[in-house]
Amino acid sequence: MTLLDIKPYPCLRSSQDIKRWYEENYHLLSLGGLWLKGGEPNTMDAALFTQATLRFLVCRLSTYRDVSVSISHSLIAQIAQEVKGIFVDFAFLPPPKDMEIMNASKIPLWLGTTTKEPACAFDVLGISNSFVLELLNLPGLLHFSGIPIFKNDRMIRPDIPLIILGGANAAVTSVLHGPIKDQGFENNYGLVDAVIIGEGEHAIKQFLEIVKEGKSLGLSKTEILNSCHGKVDGFYEPDKYEHQYTMIGQNYSEQGLVEKPFPSSSLCEKETKIPLSNEKGLVGIVPREPYVSYPVKGAIVYNLDQIKTMESCPLWYDPESLGTGSLQISNGCPCFCAFCAESWERKPYRERSLPKLLEGLRSAKAHQGLDTVNLLSFNFNTHEELYPMILSFYEETANISLKSQRFDLLSTDRFLVEVLQIIGKTTVSCGMEGISERLRRYLHKNLTEEQVYKACEFLFERGIRELKIFLISTGLEQEEDFSEFGRFVKRLADLKSMCSSNVRIIFSLTPLYYSPHTPLEFHTCITVLEDTKKIRKKVEHICKLHGMEFRESASHEESWLTQLLAMGDRRLTPALVRSSIMDGFTYYNNIPNQIIKTWRTYLTELGLSEGHYFRAKGKDHIFPWDDIDLGISKKFLWEEYERSIHFTERDYCLGRPQVEAQCLGCSACPTGAQIKKITGHKASQPFLLEELHRISENKRNRIIVRLIAGIEPSMRLVSKRFIGIAVARALMLAIPDIVPYYHSLSGHLRDFDGDKATTDFTYGINVYDLAFLSKERIGELLNHESLSQKLADIQQHCRGFRIKEFALNPGDILDVKYILYRVHWNTDFTRSFIEQKMGEYLHAHYVKHTLLKKKDRTIFKVDAKNKKSAVVLHTEINTTNPLEKLDAEFSVFMIVAKRFDIQTFLETFYGFERRRELIRTKIEALGYYGKYPDLQKSIRCISCGDYIQETFLAGQPFIERHCLMCSIKSEYISQYQQKLR
Ligand code: SF4
Ligand code: SF4
Repeated sequence: MTLLDIKPYPCLRSSQDIKRWYEENYHLLSLGGLWLKGGEPNTMDAALFTQATLRFLVCRLSTYRDVSVSISHSLIAQIAQEVKGIFVDFAFLPPPKDMEIMNASKIPLWLGTTTKEPACAFDVLGISNSFVLELLNLPGLLHFSGIPIFKNDRMIRPDIPLIILGGANAAVTSVLHGPIKDQGFENNYGLVDAVIIGEGEHAIKQFLEIVKEGKSLGLSKTEILNSCHGKVDGFYEPDKYEHQYTMIGQNYSEQGLVEKPFPSSSLCEKETKIPLSNEKGLVGIVPREPYVSYPVKGAIVYNLDQIKTMESCPLWYDPESLGTGSLQISNGCPCFCAFCAESWERKPYRERSLPKLLEGLRSAKAHQGLDTVNLLSFNFNTHEELYPMILSFYEETANISLKSQRFDLLSTDRFLVEVLQIIGKTTVSCGMEGISERLRRYLHKNLTEEQVYKACEFLFERGIRELKIFLISTGLEQEEDFSEFGRFVKRLADLKSMCSSNVRIIFSLTPLYYSPHTPLEFHTCITVLEDTKKIRKKVEHICKLHGMEFRESASHEESWLTQLLAMGDRRLTPALVRSSIMDGFTYYNNIPNQIIKTWRTYLTELGLSEGHYFRAKGKDHIFPWDDIDLGISKKFLWEEYERSIHFTERDYCLGRPQVEAQCLGCSACPTGAQIKKITGHKASQPFLLEELHRISENKRNRIIVRLIAGIEPSMRLVSKRFIGIAVARALMLAIPDIVPYYHSLSGHLRDFDGDKATTDFTYGINVYDLAFLSKERIGELLNHESLSQKLADIQQHCRGFRIKEFALNPGDILDVKYILYRVHWNTDFTRSFIEQKMGEYLHAHYVKHTLLKKKDRTIFKVDAKNKKSAVVLHTEINTTNPLEKLDAEFSVFMIVAKRFDIQTFLETFYGFERRRELIRTKIEALGYYGKYPDLQKSIRCISCGDYIQETFLAGQPFIERHCLMCSIKSEYISQYQQKLR
């Protein structure tokens, strides 16, 4: 197959067919198909799809699990939902084995998880691209979703959605916009239709409004895109710019087209190793239409207070992200680290004000059931209102998570370390980057060894538990650098022992990535041209010699391909398509060595070379991204590059105590006022520590609200903790006044074998304890009467579960000893088969019992003496009440002990061959029971005469004066359940 033969894959186009397929096959998918289930809280109701005026599918190039902690796709959805009449759904890269299953059944790889509508049923696909390697997956995802891969084919098809790309990596996507005409691929071009460069908060809305209007006026897709120019911030339509390639090298030296890559005094002698040969290079970029901007200016939101931070993020079915939300406190970074894309692409530095942050926090807390808030920023310790923010956030959330901070700022702020200790932050991450001061100057890190040492001293004194230090290998390391690093690590080890600290110190080393739009874009990509193994070994040796841990955070293969795709131009598009569609490579966090070999072959076949992309570039070099302007001029970048290679740096522009900050003239600030704001930046005075101690103390006083929830069968694969967080969310959304007082989900009944979806797939009753700070108002907000009045409102926010009962201050979480389950088989199992297998299971688990058959009931009566140690206390098979419309004609009631393992139990019935079907079994938890504390005082059951050894805790109660075994009569259980409905 050649590039020209690629026809859209014939996928299913009916959501009904896809839904049916999902119902029949979810158990074969990863995580029991949860990633494709949809319907998470804060996602839109599928019923709104048909009536929507615009349908927008937010697409990820990575898997659900990999992006569940990322906020970018959720933020896009939040922004999009402000457009009236829009419907928003999400699509993800399927996990490896699921992709095969889906392809085999012709299921589009990108489909709305909630609606099960194929990508083609939407008006717009909005691809959120976070990092370079994700691009490897784009052609395959389009193709196997039934979408033509090139723009020219898509534009003439009104039934195909517009495809727009945005995200952190949007300005580094030149490899998507080819192939170029003289590559011989006829008129094909453009894997995406347009790109939104920069910050999308305004731009996404502007774009969707124009598409909505265009659609209502019956405009063609081309007309709609044309009308976006000048109206959508950061709107870049790549095919509106012609990239011109011609021969460069010796033949062109007279015409001045030979590149002079570096000044004569450059340190980078290695650059001379890649001579210019006769090869084609990019020599010009010309706009094709008079109405397009050239260059396109990246969108930027100067006033963060005008836009919302992430508030109504969907609660993803992933245990890692549950209860934790991110709040963006600032954007951009005031520093000028030469290697850091964020530094150069997101300037200037801006902060969100404290009142807006508090507003955002409360909304996010309610919408996401948060107990932990992560302060999202490049360096949290640059925020002007850091201290008041910590104080107010700590008062209103159980935990604050603070990620990255600068060593130099920490070294002048002992107080911050004390604060971190009080709020329970015991792990700290900081970037040191270069292993010596010389290399840190090269990287413009503005960081001396003394500053790192001082910051560590504060941290060790305060008993920090883990310190992660990031390093970058530059390929320029020399003996003196290693010696300096060795001396430093030894000093750190001595400091640790002087402070009697047990801190775990981890050095994490990454090879330098020469990012577009940064000063190092001009630099030879040394770290991919040479394997940095030797450097790694030396650094590792030094760390381990002094008892520190060492990690490497990216493989050589990953660095190589990232660098190639970042530096690459439109001529690499055919290689990208070949890799993804013809050769079927999908990126799942690993680049095998073979892939590098394959890419070298692609380059040769395209008449290109890695040397062309990796060599040093001159001052006037035309980069494929020169039609994009991110606010910092190329001249400024070049000057900074020259400073780098001479190992000199300038101080960054943020005002700090004892630093007279200067504007470096990077031109990112639009006004003098903005410049003044940054250079005159003043951190607010720290508060009194007593204040923080008082809050910390007060947090110990909590009241507990216990809610008994009934979970629907459709939610049985979701973790039990998930429902707890959703319960907290429902409560806070229904009673907004309680939001500041909500502390955390303090307890719930876990299932017996962990809390993973695959081992915990019961539904029915569960118990959730929510902790609130015991303050004056909380008594009036959360008393029995007001909760009862609000119950209907609370239920409105419950999807997939209902609140059945609640209690205030009920005491410790229940000490469950026994559970009553009802098991519904929805397979082809017959009643006699179940009876036979049940017997086998009981025998295998040494449960002595007697088999009794009574009319419709088959009872496995466990011997009284055996009950104490038995894993199953009672089992009976009943004919199902036909009114209950269950899947089988019979169901099994079981009273099991705490150590009963569902997985092992079901394996007896399904066998090894059909083990993946286990999770199709519907197991309903009906009630929870404890043990009678004192047998002597227990009374006898009036039905069977045995002692009543169990106590009722939650769910299905006993029949009066009956033991648990005699209480599980199906009519009695049905009556109770009717009452609760
Ligand atoms: S401090 Fe340096 S590395 Fe960190 S975000 Fe700022 S510019 Fe980037
Ligand atoms: S314009 Fe000046 S103050 Fe503003 S970010 Fe650039 S260097 Fe800093």
